[in-house]
Amino acid sequence: MNLLVVGPQGSGKGTQAGRIAADYDIPHVSTGDMFRAAVEAGSELGQRVQPILAAGDLVPDELTVELIRERLSEDDARAGFVLDGFPRNLAQAGALDAMLGSIDRGLDMVLFFDLDDDIALERMLGRARDEGRVDDRPDVIARRLAIYHEQTEPVVEHYRATGLLVPLHAERSVNEVYAEITDAIAALEGRRA
Ligand code: ADP
Repeated sequence: MNLLVVGPQGSGKGTQAGRIAADYDIPHVSTGDMFRAAVEAGSELGQRVQPILAAGDLVPDELTVELIRERLSEDDARAGFVLDGFPRNLAQAGALDAMLGSIDRGLDMVLFFDLDDDIALERMLGRARDEGRVDDRPDVIARRLAIYHEQTEPVVEHYRATGLLVPLHAERSVNEVYAEITDAIAALEGRRA
């Protein structure tokens, strides 16, 4: 099962992707987590992306696409994956579609975490107090949300047009959203059986 989660910051997609990964035994592939781990490790990649993450900007597509290409070619991703944080713009979406097409695979479903900006902002400011992420400062949060609207929303429309999009009410509780997700996965598996 090849899944993708997309939605604004604070929409809970990372939490839900982690839960899906555990319950369906597929890896949770999060570009944000991978970049933060690289920064933490002080690797060459980490040193390169650290100021970009701190500013809330997007890491260049070449680096991000290559990171995903390598990650998805690992053994554990063969049975499927839940991709989180990628693709974030139309160029990355094109690269992903091509990458999967070249190995005769495709996405099964794109879970769209729909959330109003005011709730997204409120949640991120709350998380800033709890987690202390360097990019959870008010000015950087505003920048990340602006980039989401400008560059990632067209990705949502791209997948809506292909019929893969499953919109979710992301303002609901974690358990309510997860119930919508497991229903959608059951329907998908029913269609494939
Ligand atoms: P959020 O969705 O809360 O902004 P993420 O953990 O998904 O957090 O991403 C954190 C940061 O990592 C982004 O602000 C960006 O700098 C970088 N990043 C993550 N995914 C991508 C991507 N697909 N393309 C470019 N940069 C990315």
